[in-house]
Order: sequence, then structure tokens, then C-alpha cells
Amino acid sequence: MSENTKITLLPGDGIGPEVVRQAVKIIKILESKLGLELEMQEYPVGGAAYEVEGHPLPETTLKAAKEANAVLLGAVGGPKWESIDFALRPERALLGLRSSLGLFANLRPAKVFDALVEASTLKFDVVNGLDILVVRELTGGIYFGKPAGVETLEDGTRRGFNTLVYTEDEIKRIARVAFDVARKRNNKVHSIDKANVLQCTGFWREVVTDLHKEYSDVTLEHMYVDNCAMQLVRNPKQFDVVLTTNMFGDILSDEASMLTGSIGMLPSASVGGSNGMYEPIHGSAPDIAGQDKANPLATILSVGMMFKYSLDNEQVNTWIEEAVEAVLAKGYRTGDIMSDGKKQVGTVQMGDLVAEELEAKQC
Ligand code: NAD
Repeated sequence: MSENTKITLLPGDGIGPEVVRQAVKIIKILESKLGLELEMQEYPVGGAAYEVEGHPLPETTLKAAKEANAVLLGAVGGPKWESIDFALRPERALLGLRSSLGLFANLRPAKVFDALVEASTLKFDVVNGLDILVVRELTGGIYFGKPAGVETLEDGTRRGFNTLVYTEDEIKRIARVAFDVARKRNNKVHSIDKANVLQCTGFWREVVTDLHKEYSDVTLEHMYVDNCAMQLVRNPKQFDVVLTTNMFGDILSDEASMLTGSIGMLPSASVGGSNGMYEPIHGSAPDIAGQDKANPLATILSVGMMFKYSLDNEQVNTWIEEAVEAVLAKGYRTGDIMSDGKKQVGTVQMGDLVAEELEAKQC
């Protein structure tokens, strides 16, 4: 790790600032335990930035994100900004950050912690030991394809349209990420498309198949997205790495997250550029914001991914996962993962408990 490691903090809206505060607590402990010098600086993003600067992604915020070794984001959005111009909505900041930082690969693990198997709505045998990684393409596809918009035709009929487009290079670079990461896991990639209907994803299948020749040690299977949606609830343990497009990945990774019981448990990493952005997969949860109810574990686990993928320290990720597992094993739960006989705690106490576990670790 370089001496002057910069982490840009973008707490955002709703529960974002609450969960990022807990993550910062964890980073500070690691800093002192490992003798690191980390420069952490906070900038506004999303609705919070719109309020002060009139834009969800101000230039100063983007500049700080570009200059950092890693970015830690809370969440953006909320009812307050739902009726403002589309281009100024808080969520636009996410697309802006991803594309400006060149973060074309989104890695979303859906891992079931032993202590939380009972939090899933699925049967014990279906989810026990589950460990899937969704690799979602993040800067292309239908979310960015042009033309896009709503228009009025000559006869007065209105129509909306988006464009699904992928270049060969875009497909290859994301498929390479999936194959590389599969080599460090269980050597299996499912590539998800809709090749029977969408020509663009037929092309996706062709390019992935071709690239697979360089990765013959990795098992590759193709699956249609509708079947994948079914298989994820029928037999999710058949998956190791799930490689897919931007829109399919958006939907499938949320489905996969639910296998684990709570959206409040799942971290994510967006990589591919010169740095990386780390964030919980949940949104700003306006319904519980400011009430010390948010589960901070997804954000704390995102810190682990940050150390693993951007700060070159995979061991820290393991320590954080172990600390979280230990706290859960002692029966502590935030409201979203609460069950009979467990001890309910708030956001701050959950952060403190993980911090105590890390403090006690022989690092
Ligand atoms: P959400 O993820 O914010 O909330 C969905 C449900 O999960 C809510 O009941 C919420 O209370 C609960 N929840 C979410 N995170 C939790 C946590 N850490 N602990 C406990 N419970 C948690 O999704 P939503 O309600 O669809 O969206 C709310 C706002 O967030 C919208 O403005 C949306 O656009 C935005 N959003 C932002 C991001 C992001 O910043 N990456 C992602 C998704 C949604």
C-alpha cells in the first residue's frame, strides 16, 4: 500500500451517512492496528450535493473520487428528490461516478453467514453454505445505450425507447474479470443472456464462448436470464460466478441478495479503472433513516472489499468477515435480521461490536 493512501468518503443520503460513520470507525481501527496512514476526506453526493451545489455530482466531488485510491459510498436518493429533473436526480451521481472512473465491473458477493442461515426465506439446505459472486457489466448496455428517450411521432403517438448495445471489447473485458475471479474461487462461470431473443446478447454469448478458449480450466455454462432467475431460488448453490450484462445484473444481484436474508448484509465493489468504488448494495432506506436502525454490516464488509481490491490487502477482508461472523454468532442483530432469542442492537452498537472484535484480533 502506498504511503499516502487516499480514501474519498461519499456518505450521501438517508442511512448513507449513518452506515459510513460505522465503516470509518472500522477503518480507523485498522489504521492504528496496522500502522497505516490513510487520508480520509468526505464530499457531498446525491441529494445532499444537490441541496448545496445544485448538482448530485459536483466537480469537486468527482475530482476527489478520481484522485483517491478508493471511494467508499453510502447511498443516494430519497422521496425529496423524486420530482426534480431526471438529469439532476441523486441516482444520476452513481452513473456519473461509474462511467467517469471507468468502473466497468461490479462484483457483488451473495454469501450466507453461518449464523444467519435462518434469516433467509429459503430452506436451510438450499442456502446453507451459499457463496455466489455476481459479476455485472456496469458502464455499458441498455443503461447507457444511445438513442434513448421519449418522443412524439408525427401522428401524435408518444413512444419511449432505450438501446441495448455492447461492443466486442466491452464484453471481453468483463468476461475476463469473471474468468479471472473464478480461478480464485471454484472455477465455474455461468454467463447469463437472452440470446434466444436479443441479438446483442447472442453476440455476448459468441464473444464469451470465444474468450473461454483462453480459460479452458474454468467451466463455462450459458443460461438464459429467465431460467437463471428461476434457478437462483430453486438451486442457487449450482452457481459460483454469475457473469452478466448491466441490466440483467442489476436485477439478478438483487434477487441473489435476498437469498442471504437481508439487503443490509451485502457489500459490493466496482472496479476496472485506476481505483475502485465500494458501497453496500442497499439504497438510502428513507423509511428508517436517522433512527439508528440501519444495518451497517454491508458497508463494513464493503471496507473489506476495498482493502482486497484497491488497497492490496486481502487479509483485512478476511479479518472483517471473521469479525462480522463472530458478532453474529454471539447473537447480536439489527432489526432487519432479527429473529427470536437474539439480541437487537442499533446501527452504532453494531458498529461498536465489530470494532471490538477487530480490536481484539491478533493482527
Ligand atoms: P432501499 O434499499 O433503500 O430499501 C429497501 C428496504 O430495505 C427498505 O425497507 C429499507 O428500510 C430496507 N433496508 C435497506 N438497507 C437497509 C439496511 N442497511 N438496514 C436495514 N434495512 C435496510 O431501496 P428503496 O426503498 O427501493 O430505495 C430508497 C432510495 O434509495 C431511492 O431513492 C432509491 O433510488 C435509492 N437507491 C439508491 C441506491 C444506491 O445509492 N446505490 C441503490 C438502490 C436504491
